[in-house]
Amino acid sequence: MSTPRHDAQGRRSFARTAYDAVPLYDPKRAPVELDLTDNTNLWGMPPAAERAWRDAPVSRITRYPTLYAAELKQALAGYVGVSPDMIVTGCGSDDILDSAMRAFGEPGDVVAGPEPSFAMIPIFARMNALTYAGCVELPSHQPDLDALLATKPALLYLCSPNNPTGTLLARATIERALREAPGVVLLDEAYAEFAGVSAIDLVAHSDRLLVIRTMSKAFGLAGLRIGYAVGQPSLVMDVEKSRGPYKLNAMAEHAAAVALQQDMPWVEEHVALAVTLRERLADALRARGFAPLASHANFVCVPVPDCVDVGQALRAHGVAVRPFPALPHIGDTLRISVGPWSMLERFLAAFDDVMTARRTT
Ligand code: PMP
Repeated sequence: MSTPRHDAQGRRSFARTAYDAVPLYDPKRAPVELDLTDNTNLWGMPPAAERAWRDAPVSRITRYPTLYAAELKQALAGYVGVSPDMIVTGCGSDDILDSAMRAFGEPGDVVAGPEPSFAMIPIFARMNALTYAGCVELPSHQPDLDALLATKPALLYLCSPNNPTGTLLARATIERALREAPGVVLLDEAYAEFAGVSAIDLVAHSDRLLVIRTMSKAFGLAGLRIGYAVGQPSLVMDVEKSRGPYKLNAMAEHAAAVALQQDMPWVEEHVALAVTLRERLADALRARGFAPLASHANFVCVPVPDCVDVGQALRAHGVAVRPFPALPHIGDTLRISVGPWSMLERFLAAFDDVMTARRTT
């Protein structure tokens, strides 16, 4: 037990000491007319999943869900082409990442990850009393694997396509990580559908690889909180143990399974649209003299000086995008989620107004 301490406001804290370095995650997202910050599916919810949600029997709410989401695992197994015992589900992929850190890291162990990457990784590491080691990516936007491996991580985190850059990891980098990492390799493929590329096939050759996926992005189900991971059965079982039973609610589990069984044409159509419009948005930004990074996800990352001020000015125009100040090798950047062209036109009009006003003042 840790000795009670006092926080900055003078209140007593009984939490484990590692929590002193854990902020409450709160990106202060005030409601805004057009929100292009979170890379969800801005076309809406897949239709069969929506019907399943609306037509649910009351027992789906009054009774407990299955312990470990057997129905959804079956559907996911079909989708990714593995057996159901190679899948673990979670309350969003956040839950999988958090549970994996608990399962595979002893307190004090290292979680290593590239910088920049998914902002929750250092937070999950600290929440689980692990030490986070961030290693600045190479100028090519690939992870610096030498630096990452030098930290001897119990968990090595990689993200492909990476958030926030949109960069696809070279397959050789993933293969080398699997050969040389001392512990578990977490490969976050939250945006894989938009890249059309996955490394899930590598789980057949590695007992240390956990590929983490989500239904929050391409499938349009972020509010249902459905994440999953693919790995060899023993690895998956360890995450399942650390995650615990009943973590998926029954309504969400069923709607997600229906989406996988019946809504694939909808999902594929909207992934294709997102890819087309991502390129159209990148062209429009290039035409304005900016140099967006090549993206394989459903967002565009574009260097824009004074991105925090620009982000605030865009908000005043009713449009939210995510600023990332001072990214290594890149500088100030805006990340813009891709949605229907009407939304992106609205963003571009606001962006033009903001940039013109900044040039003339
Ligand atoms: N990984 C990455 C790279 C993400 O960008 C996100 C969400 N922004 C997540 C994981 C978590 O997604 P969820 O918990 O909704 O599955």
